[in-house]
Amino acid sequence: MNIHADLAHSVGNTPLIRLQAASEATGCEILGKAEFMNPGQSVKDRAALYIIEDAVRRGALRPGGTIVEGTAGNTGIGLALVGASMGFKTVIVIPETQSQEKKDMIRLAGAQLVQVPAVPYKNPNNYVRYSERLAAELAKSEPNGAIWANQFDNTANRDAHIHGTGPEIWAQTDGKVDGFVAAVGTGGTLAGVGLALQPKGVKVALADPGGSAIYSLYTEGEAKAEGTSITEGIGQGRITANLEGFRPDFAYKISDEEALPIVFDLLQHEGLCLGGSSGINIAGAMHLARELGPGHTIVTILCDYGTRYQSKLFNPDFLRSKNLPLPGWLERGPESIP
Ligand code: PMP
Repeated sequence: MNIHADLAHSVGNTPLIRLQAASEATGCEILGKAEFMNPGQSVKDRAALYIIEDAVRRGALRPGGTIVEGTAGNTGIGLALVGASMGFKTVIVIPETQSQEKKDMIRLAGAQLVQVPAVPYKNPNNYVRYSERLAAELAKSEPNGAIWANQFDNTANRDAHIHGTGPEIWAQTDGKVDGFVAAVGTGGTLAGVGLALQPKGVKVALADPGGSAIYSLYTEGEAKAEGTSITEGIGQGRITANLEGFRPDFAYKISDEEALPIVFDLLQHEGLCLGGSSGINIAGAMHLARELGPGHTIVTILCDYGTRYQSKLFNPDFLRSKNLPLPGWLERGPESIP
């Protein structure tokens, strides 16, 4: 028998999928870790599980207690689902600009959703700061504990990748992996897998979208957030606690114009329905492939499932309004596909 005790135990152990076009274009084996196959359809289920388990171990959270977090969406979905399966309540604070699909899913998963304007961190109503205050307030009255998940600076997040994602990649490739690439939201994935695999000789690269300052922090030592991106869940302006003590071997700046056609092609030709950050990652993996030369094996993260972005990434009107490339099949609509 092979039975998971509950949903929380089904997080992780995702498959590695060979990306055909990316591999053929580079002469490398480019492999995607299918994190969209987690129960909440994203990589963030891993961080959610580790953050909750850590809080339970510390005694900060007891059965029936409340988890509070500020999140662009995927962490909220992960915390709500994994939390429910472990007997906890969740309150999620989200910037109102995030996709409707993610907001709907958080509510469906039983979490209380609080929407705040998308304002910078220095504003006290920023979603992260708001969630920290709310958690402190709830902790005063919640007899079973209320915690602030604090995914950016709580290193239980990257522990999920040091002990889960990284070793899984090593085992799945029999140690025959030369490179790893990921974008940064909190930095948990990049630094966690990096700390697990860099000591084994794996070259680790950052793929950074427009509007994020991590690329310039690593290459020039200065935070410069140039450009913009429609991708959600990635982009960062500082070295979070999850990134501390880690340094990538390479860093690439990836535009939406480069990343989005990869996402569209994968859906049409390889059956993979992915969000925009996966496109940034795969474009980054192709850069690393060209850096290392043909014959290498490079792993990247397929972060979340594309249906979460139907109203944006796969919406011709939205793409047109942003002057972004859209494939003919999307422009003409599904009726035109033979
Ligand atoms: N892609 C998506 C869609 C995400 O939601 C996130 C998490 N915010 C990431 C990538 C980046 O993961 P991490 O927080 O581990 O850096």
